[in-house]
Amino acid sequence: MSRAMRTPEPYFSRIKELRSEIERRRLDAYFVQDRMDQYWLTGFTGEDGGVLVTPRQVVLLTDGRFDEAADHEAPWARKVLRKKRGPEATIRELRRLRARRVGFNGGHMSVSEFNALRKLGKPIRLVPIPSAIQPRRAVKTPGEVARIRKAVVVAEQAFDAVRKWLRPGLTEREIAARLAYEMRQRGAQGEAFPSIVAVGPNSSLPHYEPGDRRLTETEPLLVDWGARVDWYGSDLTRVVWLGSIPAQLRKVFDVVREAQARGIEAVRPGVRAAAVDRAARQVIDKAGFGKRFNHALGHGIGLVGHEAPRLGKLSTDVLEPGMVITIEPGIYLPGVGGVRLEDDVLVTETGHEVLSTLPLSFA
Ligand code: ZN
Ligand code: ZN
Repeated sequence: MSRAMRTPEPYFSRIKELRSEIERRRLDAYFVQDRMDQYWLTGFTGEDGGVLVTPRQVVLLTDGRFDEAADHEAPWARKVLRKKRGPEATIRELRRLRARRVGFNGGHMSVSEFNALRKLGKPIRLVPIPSAIQPRRAVKTPGEVARIRKAVVVAEQAFDAVRKWLRPGLTEREIAARLAYEMRQRGAQGEAFPSIVAVGPNSSLPHYEPGDRRLTETEPLLVDWGARVDWYGSDLTRVVWLGSIPAQLRKVFDVVREAQARGIEAVRPGVRAAAVDRAARQVIDKAGFGKRFNHALGHGIGLVGHEAPRLGKLSTDVLEPGMVITIEPGIYLPGVGGVRLEDDVLVTETGHEVLSTLPLSFA
């Protein structure tokens, strides 16, 4: 296809914004290495890719396996097929573009890659600018929000199907596998991240990996899962009891539910993410479980499981309309179990909209 082809939306606007950043920082080019940044900017999904953006050109570096995909997904970019991954082709292109000052995200480049580029690339200068893309990715377009909504629906329907099938004796691993299957059946590309399925005391580990523990009538089952639909993910957590909830965990459940409600209430444009964290954390502190809530209240979702903004005590992020975030307070009692409730929330012009609709309690 012709190189003169006009760049379609939303990529046109995103590249235009990156170009104003290039100009503001007096750069000659910006080098995008992260696969999801590359997809967000160009629509190219190939797993071997690099994008060079200059004030006049967009160059897509990839290899032969993705030749056809590049033509389909980003025909308006100039495609360069490289024989191997590594700095050589990047440097060749930068020289051809006469780029001297090149911005990049230091968090996406290994030290050895950086050194190789610097050594081979003289007099090209690499300028770390981590904020060129990530904060922009945090604010979603209506099209992105629609994909997240779909990912929420698929995750919820899959969870409902799994919940009806639950019985004592199933292992965490079996439940996780069934959940992934049910999401795929409903149109998901796959899991947004490896599901956490934790029975009993395992549920007090916020980042547990499912194993062979079996579901019983008396212990909590914590499930933290999400679906990926059209590259965008959802992220939800619920706790299920097959029998009745023990009194101690009932109390914990009520505190977490109250904390989550306070957190969600605080979500609106212009508010500091740290203030939202505080609104929820205060409830847990007051109930005496402050030390048992040992992670941030939430995070942005979208192309990766955790992205900007961050909703933690020390976050300097400010909420803006179009951000989609999780609100997920938890209380974890070692040896007993944990309760975490997680929902996905869109920041709107006037406040917020909770995208997820599952009930909080299934007891
Ligand atoms: Zn989660
Ligand atoms: Zn989460």
